[in-house]
Amino acid sequence: MQRLLLTVLFAVLFSNPMNARADRLFRESKDIPELASIEQPQLEATSSNVKNLRVSVGHGEFLLQQGSAARIQRDGKAVGIYFKGEGVFKYRTDDKVEFPRSKYNAAKVGGVRWAEPDQAMELTTPFQEALIWFQDQPLPSLEGATGADLNVFYPAALRWADDVDGPCRTHLQYSHQVQGGLAPLVIASLKGSRSFLYVFDPAQSQVEALWCVQKRTAMDPHGADLALLSQQPIGWNQKVPVAPDFLLSAVEMDLTGWRNDKARLMVTETLVPVSRSLSCLTMSLLNDRFAGSLDDRRELVLRSVKDEQGRDVGFSHRQGEVLIRLNQSAEARKPFKLTFEIEGDFLVRPGGDNYWELGTSPWFPQPDLNGQAYSIKARIRTQKPFVPMACGRTARRFEEDGFNGVEVRIDEPIQFFVVLAGKYSMQEETKDGLTIRVATYAFAPRDAPKLFTLTRNIINYYQSFLGPFPFKEFNIIEKNSWGYGQAPPGVMLITKEAFNPIADEINRYFSRGINERFAHEIAHQYWGHVVKMPSIEEQWLTESFSEYSAALFLRYVKRVSEFDLLVQNWRTHAEAATAASAIPTANDLWNGSNNWERFRFRTGLIYDKGAYLLYCLNQELGDKVFLTFLKSYQATFRWKFGTTEHLNGLLKHITGKDHAAFFDRYYWGSELPPKPGTVPGKP
Ligand SMILES: [Zn+2]
Repeated sequence: MQRLLLTVLFAVLFSNPMNARADRLFRESKDIPELASIEQPQLEATSSNVKNLRVSVGHGEFLLQQGSAARIQRDGKAVGIYFKGEGVFKYRTDDKVEFPRSKYNAAKVGGVRWAEPDQAMELTTPFQEALIWFQDQPLPSLEGATGADLNVFYPAALRWADDVDGPCRTHLQYSHQVQGGLAPLVIASLKGSRSFLYVFDPAQSQVEALWCVQKRTAMDPHGADLALLSQQPIGWNQKVPVAPDFLLSAVEMDLTGWRNDKARLMVTETLVPVSRSLSCLTMSLLNDRFAGSLDDRRELVLRSVKDEQGRDVGFSHRQGEVLIRLNQSAEARKPFKLTFEIEGDFLVRPGGDNYWELGTSPWFPQPDLNGQAYSIKARIRTQKPFVPMACGRTARRFEEDGFNGVEVRIDEPIQFFVVLAGKYSMQEETKDGLTIRVATYAFAPRDAPKLFTLTRNIINYYQSFLGPFPFKEFNIIEKNSWGYGQAPPGVMLITKEAFNPIADEINRYFSRGINERFAHEIAHQYWGHVVKMPSIEEQWLTESFSEYSAALFLRYVKRVSEFDLLVQNWRTHAEAATAASAIPTANDLWNGSNNWERFRFRTGLIYDKGAYLLYCLNQELGDKVFLTFLKSYQATFRWKFGTTEHLNGLLKHITGKDHAAFFDRYYWGSELPPKPGTVPGKP
């Protein structure tokens, strides 16, 4: 649901930061004629003097103390006001979960201070210029004497506001007009010594959000433009996420990649409106990726969108999202198909290496996380000598006309479909119905048998309490880099130290903890794919649970000291990070001058503090009950979306005890549990 800024978050979380920025200059649209008037609305010729004019929206209040204001017109209708003078914006949040993160971000932004009256936080900030848009919400009346000529300032103000790398105003206003119903939509851009973006959107994203607008720094030119100060749900609460507007239930794709980085991608998606009919929809889709430098921008050009009858469908592709105007509205619960044709030179080879990856950032159109549960049928061809690899069961490998090809299938509902290709060699082993494949970059696999054994040992252990391994094939693919892993469905991407742990000093350094990393990435097949996260706020369900499962494996293979060291590290990292944010808001931490601290705090919460909470629960419940709890969670939510609230429900069912206070203090709150006194026994 929280479509606002999802793309930006994803870029920050999962992809190379060089791919993060959707370039604003690059815009495509086709056959949505109404967009032009939304993009360039006109200012009335004369403005009015205003004095102490108050406009209240949600938890915000704009006070236009003194200056000139004029109405903005679209198709003969007033849709906003432009103000220049002295103004003050007051905003209040009473969502306690976000207090620590809101305070941390405000401190890092500087010049913004929260006051803390009873049970709330408030900020007051001056501005000198404001663009405030109103849809389905009455405009304040402007009746004073004629004011200053604002038309000289208005075009630059509009450009400035629309150039902020935030939610796309044009798309939001358009979809509200077509789809929003009667609830209001208010968007405000405020400019002063500190500048802000405010969105009140009860109909679509169902959130009220406030960001401080930040300039990109020289250090991180692609970094997020916006520091989140507040995001409050409207009419729901974070413990029970709202349902998505529509699901992506099946993807059929045909991808061809050439040696010159060019690609052609045809994707047919089956979409299902969940509870109401849809006339338009918005999905994430990258506009570009960067290959090493800002100058080397690679485009994803959306050539066409077609419906099942082969008719063109209107779309607008900008700011990392695609807005689609359906030819006829799609009924609730009735699946329909759209076919996208995408071209471009977006097969980025990191550092000029002989491989590319289309990873977890949205390189084909994707809804919000809770709308992603799709099967896959994909046919991938890459010009020789590159060999294509992808998530899923191999239906067929083939060679034709100078291309290597593969066809893959996944029948279960997944997220994060990933494709790679490069100069890879493969070795595989099939046993007990599971094929494990090792694909190494540049050199043939040397230690494959060792990796087969390690992987099988880990999987066998997990099967003993997490249920059957979810995929029939598991690919371990080398990334030509150091020190990290990733886990798309049926795949582990892992850096080169994993493949030759005794080679040289640098290898030895990075291969420390390799068993833990292997176990963590394999655990993601359960925590991430079998049980999915419905939103970025619930990411600990994938990271902390994989982390703790990996630690359990180490303890199981009698590496108790490594288990103890992990627990110690989790506690230390959690202690450092816990005041900065509660776990669910940790992805929104912002720190323009010290991104390393932001990174450490985010991982200290989503990986370390979460794993430590599981350790505490394990201590309290004992191994038998705790493992039963994990097993039941996997069984109950197999191929579904989990939530933290569900965890508590299940715990209550199993133990008879309500753990709501535990989660309120330590998960939704920023406290850290006291150290348990004893070391857990062995399973
Ligand atoms: Zn992970």
